[in-house]
Amino acid sequence: MKAIQIRETGGPEVLQLVDLPIPVPGPGQVLIRVESVGMNFIEIYFRKGQYKATLPMTPGSEAAGTVEECGPGVNGCGFKPGDTVAAVGVLGSYAEYALVPAAQLIKVPDGVTPEQAAAAMLQGMTAHYLAYSTWPLKSGETCLIHAGAGGVGLLLTQMAAKIGARVITTVSTEEKAELSREAGASDVIVYSQQDFVAEVKRLTNNKGVDVVYDSVGKTTFDGSLNCLRPRGLMALFGGSSGAVPPFDLIQLSGKGSLFLTRPTLWHYISTRDELEKRAGDVLNWVKSGDLKLRMEHMYPLTEAGQAQSDMENRRTTGKILLEP
Ligand code: NDP
Repeated sequence: MKAIQIRETGGPEVLQLVDLPIPVPGPGQVLIRVESVGMNFIEIYFRKGQYKATLPMTPGSEAAGTVEECGPGVNGCGFKPGDTVAAVGVLGSYAEYALVPAAQLIKVPDGVTPEQAAAAMLQGMTAHYLAYSTWPLKSGETCLIHAGAGGVGLLLTQMAAKIGARVITTVSTEEKAELSREAGASDVIVYSQQDFVAEVKRLTNNKGVDVVYDSVGKTTFDGSLNCLRPRGLMALFGGSSGAVPPFDLIQLSGKGSLFLTRPTLWHYISTRDELEKRAGDVLNWVKSGDLKLRMEHMYPLTEAGQAQSDMENRRTTGKILLEP
């Protein structure tokens, strides 16, 4: 099978196309023929060596496709060859085939395509836990979402707006501002032209927001804390601009007894029930049209390096997909 492999960490050029044997499913595993790969920032962190992996590795944390073969002991899990399925995790899914533990697989409902499932699962469940669990948003509350036109940003904005929260977002360009407004943001700050902290204060009459969802990290962290109301929550869930340097916790007291969390999806889908609930909500909202996906960036597997380069250089909006 064709697959992408990394033998050393580095720039996008270390993503090499190779031929590998089709893997054989072991106990509890399912072999899927990958039809669509959802791309995520985490694969860039692994490629650069920010997150450690044993090399060589095939990247890929999200995929949708068809069940090809079930390993021993999978019969009771309800999957059979031909089923359309999707998964997130350490999958090595930049490839034509991937092995997935049955416990991580989700059946894709009729009416949802593999591309939609690959576009929705990881970022959709991330938006889901942020809006419904990390800070269960309520109607009338105000949140600030950075990278409002990004993959997670557009989905989180839609969910927060559906709950009835007021959504303020930041984006780098006017074009992205338009997309963010379409997703339901009531106020969009183009941070390349305006100071986002001053704008948030103006928009909230100096009160501050209830929660900040910050995936940008290094360049936004300090400002984000200054946007919060007393006892508000800073949910730092990514570092697209780099890692936040060591931080003195006393600042949380000085800025209003703030809460700070650094959540990750895996802890919010760690039981089968939670995984099924979040994936079910997200995929059913896609099916019903309540959750709109933007999937205009599709690349062949051979262009995985270009796709990651576009992603990390802010040239994309919404979801980026690889087609094996
Ligand atoms: P995005 O589509 O949001 O892409 C990143 C965006 O961040 C860019 O488009 C850009 O938007 C903005 N950005 C701001 N500064 C920079 C910078 N210096 N370099 C690059 N981008 C910058 O990606 P995803 O939706 O896939 O992921 C968003 C973040 O969420 C990532 O940090 C990812 O690691 C994290 N994440 C965390 C999860 C978790 O559970 N903790 C799960 C999933 C994702 P603009 O041009 O508007 O500035």
